Amino acid sequence: MYNKIYEEIENIKIQGFNEKVYKNIKKLGIKSLHDLLYYFPRGYDNRTNMKKIGDIRGEEYLVVKGVILTVTSQSTKNKLKIVKARITDGTGIIDVIWFQMPYLKKSLKIGEEYIFIGNIKNGYVFQMINPEFKLVKNQQSYTGEILPIYSTNKDISQNTLRNILKIVLENYKDRIYENIPKDISDKYKILDRKIALQEIHFPSDEKILEDAKRRFAIEELLILEMGILQKRFLVDFQGRNKYQIEGKKEIVKKYVESLNFQLTKAQKKVITEIYKNLNEGRIINYLIQGDVGSGKTVVAILLLLYIIENGYQGVLMAPTEILATQHYLSTEEIFRKLGIDIQLLTGSIKGKKREKILENIKNGNIKLILGTHALIQEDVEFKNLGLIVIDEQHRFGVAQRKALRDKGILSNLIVMSATPIPRSLALSIYGDLDVGIIDELPPGRKPIKTKWINTEIDKEKMYSFIRKKLQEGRQAYFVAPLIDESEKLSAKSTLELKEEVETYLKEFKVGILHGRMSNIEKDVTMKEFKNKKLDILISTLVIEVGVNVPNASIIVISDSERFGLSTLHQLRGRVGRGEHQSYCFLISKTENATSEARLKILEETLDGFKIAEEDLKLRKAGEIFGTKQSGISDLKFIDIVHDVKTIKLVKDIVTEYLKENNGKIKNPILEKDIEEKFKDSLTS
Ligand code: ADP
Ligand code: MG
Repeated sequence: MYNKIYEEIENIKIQGFNEKVYKNIKKLGIKSLHDLLYYFPRGYDNRTNMKKIGDIRGEEYLVVKGVILTVTSQSTKNKLKIVKARITDGTGIIDVIWFQMPYLKKSLKIGEEYIFIGNIKNGYVFQMINPEFKLVKNQQSYTGEILPIYSTNKDISQNTLRNILKIVLENYKDRIYENIPKDISDKYKILDRKIALQEIHFPSDEKILEDAKRRFAIEELLILEMGILQKRFLVDFQGRNKYQIEGKKEIVKKYVESLNFQLTKAQKKVITEIYKNLNEGRIINYLIQGDVGSGKTVVAILLLLYIIENGYQGVLMAPTEILATQHYLSTEEIFRKLGIDIQLLTGSIKGKKREKILENIKNGNIKLILGTHALIQEDVEFKNLGLIVIDEQHRFGVAQRKALRDKGILSNLIVMSATPIPRSLALSIYGDLDVGIIDELPPGRKPIKTKWINTEIDKEKMYSFIRKKLQEGRQAYFVAPLIDESEKLSAKSTLELKEEVETYLKEFKVGILHGRMSNIEKDVTMKEFKNKKLDILISTLVIEVGVNVPNASIIVISDSERFGLSTLHQLRGRVGRGEHQSYCFLISKTENATSEARLKILEETLDGFKIAEEDLKLRKAGEIFGTKQSGISDLKFIDIVHDVKTIKLVKDIVTEYLKENNGKIKNPILEKDIEEKFKDSLTS
C-alpha cells in the first residue's frame, strides 16, 4: 500500500482532468504520483507583504487594501489605453494603473474595497502597475498567500499546474507515508512528510517553507547516502576476509627496481596504506587524487602487481581507448619480463581472438586486463578478480560504482582522479570511498609556463616561438575548440585548425586525431607521435586525460574559453612530463568576465587543488562531476559544494543508523525510495 505513491500517473483519476492534461503533465517528465508530488516550484510569488499605503517607501512587490476613490480611462498619443484608479486606505493614496486593459474600467467600482497585488513604482504619488486585484467582499479573510511558480511549457499553464497540485495534495494525502525513520526525524526535528509536501507547494509562511526545504534536502540526501552506504556496509561486513593476501612482494620489488626513478614520498604513502588495508583483508574502496603528472599510473601498477603476485587478477580501466592502449604499451614489456600475462581488451578486438582472450581470463592465465570503461558492461568472467583500478576518472559516478558492485565482480576498487577536490568535500560526496592523496610532484619538473594569447600579433609571435622549439626537436599539441559533442563537428574543427597550423608551420609533419577516426587509425597516429614521426598533433579533447609523451613540451589550446577550468588544467598536463621546459598557450579572444577569470587563474597557478577550488566557485558542482553522475548532479536541494555541513550531518545520521540496524533498512517506505532512486543507475 505504501508503494502507491509510485503509481503511474495515468492510473490515477484526478478529478476534472482529461487525456490532454495527462499528456501534458508527462511532457514535464512527470510519470508517477511521486513525480508529481515532487515536482517542486522553482520559485514563489510571495503575497504576504501587506502594507498600509502610508508605510510605502519605494519600489517593491506588495499587497495593499484600499477603497477606490476615482476611476479614469484615457488614450495616450501613441494609442496606449490606460485605466487609472486612485486608492486610499486612510493612511495615504496611490494610483493603480493598467495598460491596454480598457475593459477593466467597468469592473472597478468606486467606493468598494479591493486588494491589489503588484509592483510599486515611484511617481508623483506611488503607483502600482498592472496589479492583480480582488474584491475584499469576496475574500473571507485575506492575509496574503505564497503561490508556487512552476517550470511549465507551452502546453500547460501555471494555473493548471497549481490546480493539479492542489487537488492531488488534497485527495491523495493518504498515499504519502513518512520515509524518514522516526528516531531520526525526532532527533533532528525534521518536518513531517505530508506537511512538508503541502508546504513546499503552498506555503503558509516563509518559516515553514524553510523547514520544508530543509526536510527535502535531508530526505534526498538520506535516500542517496543510505543507498550508497548500505552497499558499502554490507560489502565491508560480508566481504571481510573474503580474500587473503600473503604479503609476497618479490615482483613488486623487481618492478620498483626497474623504474628509472625513485617513488615520491606521497606515492609511497598511498601505496603503503593500501597494502596495509589489503593485508588485513579489508574490502578497499579508494579514491586516489593526484594532480596531473603526479605519477598515478605507477601507483596503480604497483597496487595491481601486489594483488596479482598474491594470487589474484587485476583490471585497469581507462576512459579512452587511446589511454588504455598507452597503458598497455608502456607496461607490456616489463610485465613480460616479470612473467605476468597481460592483455588489452578493447571493443575492436572481436571474434575468435576475443573468445580466446575471454577464455584465458576465465581460466586465470591472464593476470592483468587493460581496457576502457566498457569493460564493466561486457560479459567478462574472471577466475579470481582481486582489484579493479579505474584511471583518470573524475566522472565515474556513484551509480557506476554501484553497478560494478551489483555485478558481484567487485571486491576491491580504486578510482584515480586528476580533478582534485577538497578532501572534506570528497569525503562527503563519495560517501563510500576512502580518500588517498598524492600531493607531491616528482622532483625536477620545470613548472609549465602558461600564456593567454588574445591578439593576432601575439599569435604570430607564438608561432615563431613554436617553430624554434620544434627545430630544437620538441613536439607540440594543438587542441581544437570544443564545438559540441558531435563528432562530425569536432572533426571539422580539427581540420580547420590543421589548415592554420600548416600555413604557419609548413616544414613540420602534422598528424590529426579526432572522434570520427577508427580506433586503429587513432592508435597509428598516437604511435607516430610518440615515436617522433610527427612533430605536431592536432587533436580534440581525446587527449584530455592521461596521454603521456614526455618529449612534447608545447600545447596550444584554441578557443580556450570554451573549455572548463579543470579540462584546461588537464590538457595542460599533457606537457611538462619530461626534462624540457614546457609551455601552454591559451588562445582566446573572449571578453566575458568569467572566461577571463578562468584564463587568468591558469596563467597564475599550476596547483590543481587551487584550480579546482576556483572552479567550484565559478561553476555548479553538477557540471564538474558530470551529468552522468546520477544521484549527485540531480540533487535539487543540496548544493554539494557549499552545503558540506548538511552532507556531513546526513552522512553521520546514515552511518549511525546502519550500524544500529546491522546494515538493514527497517523502514519499507524508505527502502522503496532507495530502490526507485537507483533503479536507473545501470543505464548511465
Ligand atoms: P598522472 O598522475 O597524471 O597519471 P603519470 O602517471 O602519467 O601521471 O606520470 C607522469 C610521468 O611521471 C610519467 O612519465 C611517469 O613515468 C613519471 N613519474 C611517475 N612517478 C615518478 C617519480 N616518482 N619520479 C619521476 N618520474 C615519475
Ligand atoms: Mg594518468
